[in-house]
Amino acid sequence: MGLTVAEKLITASLVDGEMKKGNRIGIHITQTLTHDVTGVMTYLEFEAIGLKRIKTDLSVSYIDHNILQADYKNPDDHRFLMDITSKFGILCTKPASGICHQLHLERFAQPGKSLLGSDSHTVNAGGVGMLAIGAGGLDIAMAMAGEPFYFKMPQIIKVMLTGRLSPFVSAKNVILEVLRRLTVKGGLNTILEYAGPGIKTLNVTERATICNMGAEAGATTSVFPCDEVARYWFKAQDREQHWQPIVADDDAVYDQMIEINLSELEPLIALPHQPDNVVPVREVAGVEIDQVMFGGCTNSSLQDVLSIAHVLNGKHVHGNVDTGLYCGSRQVMLEAIRRGAIDKLICSGVRIMEMFCGACNGMGFAPPSKGKSLRTGPRNFYGRCGTESADVYLASPEVAAASAITGKITDPRGLGLSGWEYSMPAKFVIDESMFLQPQGFLDHSPVRRGPNIKPLPDLEAVPGQLSGETLIKVGDDITTDHIVPAGAHFLPIRCNIPEVSKYVFKVVDESFPERARKAGSGFIVAGHNYGQGSSREQAALAPRYLGIRAVIAKSFARIHLANLVNFGLIPFILVNEDEFELIDQGDTLSIDTAILKQGMKYLVHNITKNQKIAVETPLSQAELDIIRAGGRLNWIRLNQR
Ligand code: SF4
Repeated sequence: MGLTVAEKLITASLVDGEMKKGNRIGIHITQTLTHDVTGVMTYLEFEAIGLKRIKTDLSVSYIDHNILQADYKNPDDHRFLMDITSKFGILCTKPASGICHQLHLERFAQPGKSLLGSDSHTVNAGGVGMLAIGAGGLDIAMAMAGEPFYFKMPQIIKVMLTGRLSPFVSAKNVILEVLRRLTVKGGLNTILEYAGPGIKTLNVTERATICNMGAEAGATTSVFPCDEVARYWFKAQDREQHWQPIVADDDAVYDQMIEINLSELEPLIALPHQPDNVVPVREVAGVEIDQVMFGGCTNSSLQDVLSIAHVLNGKHVHGNVDTGLYCGSRQVMLEAIRRGAIDKLICSGVRIMEMFCGACNGMGFAPPSKGKSLRTGPRNFYGRCGTESADVYLASPEVAAASAITGKITDPRGLGLSGWEYSMPAKFVIDESMFLQPQGFLDHSPVRRGPNIKPLPDLEAVPGQLSGETLIKVGDDITTDHIVPAGAHFLPIRCNIPEVSKYVFKVVDESFPERARKAGSGFIVAGHNYGQGSSREQAALAPRYLGIRAVIAKSFARIHLANLVNFGLIPFILVNEDEFELIDQGDTLSIDTAILKQGMKYLVHNITKNQKIAVETPLSQAELDIIRAGGRLNWIRLNQR
């Protein structure tokens, strides 16, 4: 039986386990990436492991999130990252060199290799046939230490693309259509593998856009074959030597198939506050908007910028609409300048921002109160933009540009625009002047740490009995943005767990941290897909710091589940989902955890209601052993003795 692209990639990296659906498998990681929000903790963790050198072929630390320097915190983090990466042999980019995923695609992504990144959108690199997976920072630290990365062998969904996209219906609409069909839970424990004649019509950055938002479906990763289209990209990036052909065998077998005829797609839009809340633009056309954000790791490529400039060409943005552009990299910016696009955008009244994630997670450019913001980024979770009362819509660059002109949600096809075709440069401008190459493993070089960078908290082993209050009960699709807020006020304190813990569940229930602190221990109860979205490990560590020892849910998002393990919280799944109703916030629960055994069922005693509720963990014995020790770092220390 032949192999899919995903199976070929996994086979090339497999070091432990058998590639059977649902099996726990370990892969060797050749590259890692971090960014400044997740990177500081990651490198503190790598330091705590005690190694002096990374063991990966390449590790890159990007500084692309916390760019606003309103006080000392973000610049202190930047300086720490530049110091510590040089010491460990890690390449570091200077602030605002570009968004990690766009930059990695341009300069480092390699077909056939594996990439683990402390950001869920690391999957962007699947656009060139790389096995690219998002994970928590501690998993990245372990990968840099040469340890395998473990995950459940996913099912593989073939996304069969036929036809060709119509004018003004770009790649963003493909992934919005996938999300419309799959929802934010439908990709859990799957790999989305794109195939069919339609893929030849999509260039690498279009493919990356599609892979990128596979993270929103909860997929482990997404991947395109590596073909002649990809070869052209590598050639244009002056690294054709990294190209290799990787295509599925003719007799490869998939677990499921989705068919999308690109020719039939129309402009789509995700309504607030979930990326799967997708409808055709025509259904909401005319809704007035206050803000447009161009950019984000999904849509900040040269093609995106040129397309925006083409739609805006000579027209001014509407008087009521504040419009900003974040190019994905210096390469994108320089190419766009050379082609006159930035000129046009400035004349149209677009604010030209720095090259970073920008407003996507609320690092500046927040919408006004109750404002409506139309964005080309990948996420519109409640409160993420920095203004809790605002509504964020997600759409393609073309829809966003058309809407910026009219001041309301607009289908660009109705503006009578002339057609336009993107031509990728035969050779891009290569600018690595903001890359800091590691200085050759200087063991004694000083690492400057600002006062906001706090040591990792010590975590105790799991006791034989867990008891406490249900400190919060939440519904389905709680994101890590709900658990630990984004935004310019909160992102700079991510490396300060005592401080960040004061804001846990801020957008859901501001009283949670104080109640948790007073209680000293307790439980979180949640619906399906708990912890979806961003890979931030603080969403596990900060509740743990406040005394949460277990989360009882209907199901968990993949990365968050791993983060709970890494920090010694037990994720329990309800055996019977109806029993969700048997626990209310405030109820006192007790669970016997003297034995943590794979496949074992446990009874939660709801002392308040005198009810018993059956739960189990979805974990392997190895993961349960890590939890028993109180988390991965404790486990390493115990096993190093
Ligand atoms: Fe940056 Fe937004 Fe992409 Fe996260 S989702 S990497 S914040 S652009």
